[in-house]
Amino acid sequence: MKTIIEPFRIKSIEPIRMTTEEERRQYLKDAHYNLFLLQSKDVIIDLLTDSGTGAMSTEQWAAIMRGDESYAGSPSFTRFEETVRDITGFRHILPTHQGRAAEHLLFKVLCQSGQTVPNNTHFDTTRANVEYTGARALNLPVKETFDTSSKHPFKGNMDLNALAQLIEDLGGDKIPLVMLTLTNNSGGGQPVSMANIRSVSEICKAKKIPLFLDACRFAENSWFIKEREAGYSDKTPKEIAREFFSYSDGCTMSAKKDGLSNIGGFLALNDSELASRAEEFLLLMEGFPTYGGLAGRDLEAVAQGLKEVLEEDYLNYRIATMTYLADRLEARGIPVVTPAGGHAVYLDGLKFLPHIPPHQFPAQALACELYIHGGVRSVEIGSLMFGRPDPESGEEIPAGQDLVRLTFPRRVYTQSHVDYVLEVIEEVYARRSEIAGCQISKQKKILRAFSAHLERITAPSH
Ligand SMILES: *Cc1c(COP(=O)(O)O)cnc(C)c1O
Repeated sequence: MKTIIEPFRIKSIEPIRMTTEEERRQYLKDAHYNLFLLQSKDVIIDLLTDSGTGAMSTEQWAAIMRGDESYAGSPSFTRFEETVRDITGFRHILPTHQGRAAEHLLFKVLCQSGQTVPNNTHFDTTRANVEYTGARALNLPVKETFDTSSKHPFKGNMDLNALAQLIEDLGGDKIPLVMLTLTNNSGGGQPVSMANIRSVSEICKAKKIPLFLDACRFAENSWFIKEREAGYSDKTPKEIAREFFSYSDGCTMSAKKDGLSNIGGFLALNDSELASRAEEFLLLMEGFPTYGGLAGRDLEAVAQGLKEVLEEDYLNYRIATMTYLADRLEARGIPVVTPAGGHAVYLDGLKFLPHIPPHQFPAQALACELYIHGGVRSVEIGSLMFGRPDPESGEEIPAGQDLVRLTFPRRVYTQSHVDYVLEVIEEVYARRSEIAGCQISKQKKILRAFSAHLERITAPSH
């Protein structure tokens, strides 16, 4: 059969409340044109994030009932630990309440002020946690990452020459670790090839620099390697994952992504000395090492989710959804990042709204319009998230790329929801010239995109 269908049926439903365009205009105004400040009940299709928003399976709900809430030595932890170790091969598994807590532990024990942490592209919490230690977070993506129409199959790769040059320039002791984000979330959900992971690993090993994977979407990355890289089509997603984990010294993970769970995460690593230092902070900030900020039932849901996420029918359907939407947008001439990423479809705000200058946040203006027009909530990944005001002049320094991310929760929306989103984007594209830019009226220093207040520069003419 040619048609790829959702490999599940629905047992429990959540109603969606329909709203009018007029109501949505008011809701967005009340939310200061920041989609993070909307009430979710006022959203029709919520593509803000794939983080913790997935639907759990009957087996996960059953596992939740098996959760053992003992403070120490819970069998739920043993099941969690065995599953994580089976997939990653790492010796020490530290559960955390989510991915950023794992990042915090790792950088706390590894980084110092004045050091540099390279990554293909740091996710915003990763960057913030690196910078919090006084170290510098540096992105070294291949140049294809920024070419939103390049057909390169692995646009998430790291620039190997730039990495080698950096190590040469700074010296190994100024680089406490190298990270690779699989898939590259902020760079368009694009995968990293096995060859690239292997080469980064060789460069790091030669200089005795630890390599850590930001493994939030490891299963989606495995699927891309299986589909696109020579020599992997006959391997299972799990075999592929095991191979790339074996090239690294550890990983940070948010189970809210490819853990198919609503909360959870972990830090996994081989070095016993580092693990024991991280465990001290785990005790201080998260909890006892056999639950680390999670309930026993959460550990069970994650353990089961990590098995389900590697099923081929699931990954095939998951990636097909993104490809379906991106290909149709591209066929209509709408500026979209291609090939599609693993968890999201990205619209190119700079090309979609060329009349809005980068410092007036075209991607944010587009995200606002998609909400007003069809109740679709997306997220800006551009100058609002990664730009910053110049410390002296106060003028906005744009991020260079300005994307709208349509992020799909796992196993939540159906094909007709995807068709609806396609129609909303098409209709907004048809009247794109009427859309006005934004400016910030209030912001914080760290992770400003979550809480900033914005204004529209001129009222749209319609
Ligand atoms: C979500 C995410 C994180 C942080 O995980 P949280 O569970 O949200 O704290 C880190 N890196 C990447 C690539 C992510 O997508």
